Amino acid sequence: MIDLKDFEYDELTEYLLSIGEKKFRAEQIFSWLHRGAESYEEMTNLSKATREKLEKETYVSTLKIREKYVSQLDGTVKYLFELPDGNCIESVVMRYHHGLTICISSQVGCRMGCRFCASTIGGLYRCLTAGEILNQVIFAQKDIGERISNIVIMGIGEPLDNFDNIIKFLHNVNHEKGLNIGYRHITLSTCGLVPKIYDLAEENLPITLTISLHAPNNEIRDTIMPVNHKYKIDELIKACKTYYEKTGRRISFEYSLIHGVNDSTENAADLANLIKGMGAHVNLIPVNKVEERDFEKGSKAEINAFREKLEKMGINATIRRELGSDISASCGQLRKKVL
Ligand code: SAH
Repeated sequence: MIDLKDFEYDELTEYLLSIGEKKFRAEQIFSWLHRGAESYEEMTNLSKATREKLEKETYVSTLKIREKYVSQLDGTVKYLFELPDGNCIESVVMRYHHGLTICISSQVGCRMGCRFCASTIGGLYRCLTAGEILNQVIFAQKDIGERISNIVIMGIGEPLDNFDNIIKFLHNVNHEKGLNIGYRHITLSTCGLVPKIYDLAEENLPITLTISLHAPNNEIRDTIMPVNHKYKIDELIKACKTYYEKTGRRISFEYSLIHGVNDSTENAADLANLIKGMGAHVNLIPVNKVEERDFEKGSKAEINAFREKLEKMGINATIRRELGSDISASCGQLRKKVL
């Protein structure tokens, strides 16, 4: 059976024509699906015959809310969604002054093996389909009843390890007949799959690309991010520069501060030298403690000193504010608990 949300708009149109439907049906159906319809019955502007025809080969995919937590501190909402095959993924909706931002997953599990990350414990189970990626936005928005205006692909999984489905998802979520979320309101985060960064640059989508760097040199990065054995830091930075030149979009870097591993002021200086001249921004994230791992964050003073060193050397840096700390909103933690 086909999930029509796995089709891009043109593919949907083609499919409908192939089963003898009129072209204008595509707009109707696309719009129903992306507004959160859960069955063809709800699509009241379709004839009964059309609905019956659709039911032969296709279905309307949904996501079940298995658990939901609302932070009493800041209104952050965390969902544990259940997929049709029983697997679970997490999505988090955060309230910012510029609107609601959703953090979505791209895979069930992850095979990148970053040492500090909860999502990779247990490895990769499978990639999400384009429809499953989109459904997180659709059903969170439906549940909350307010428009979600920003997306960060920073949940469970490595989005560039699920490249084709992510591109399809991006086209669909941006489509004016669907959720119509601007590319500039979408951020994709990657641990640094270098060839895929070049592929993404070719797609020429004005999204924001952010790189999970977490180390200023190969020596440190090798010990915390296995992907660095395959793609070394200088190759990664070169890909980032190409991406910036090609798309005109500045890259940002994520840097989780792990006490005693990558958070000295010397590390900050090395980091500044590594990324200077790209107009890049650095997001500093005091590492979240994961039970199975023994990484700790440094003191407030140490974290500030790291930021100040970067600023002094001309690199823009912010320390990420922690949202939803009372509901373990950080990615991977909820799914792991349920497993
Ligand atoms: N695979 C993609 C998407 C995950 S994004 C990527 O690597 O970018 C999630 C971000 O949170 C990444 O920057 C990741 O490195 C970071 N992260 C994961 N576990 C963390 C932890 N325990 N503390 C702080 N940051 C963490």
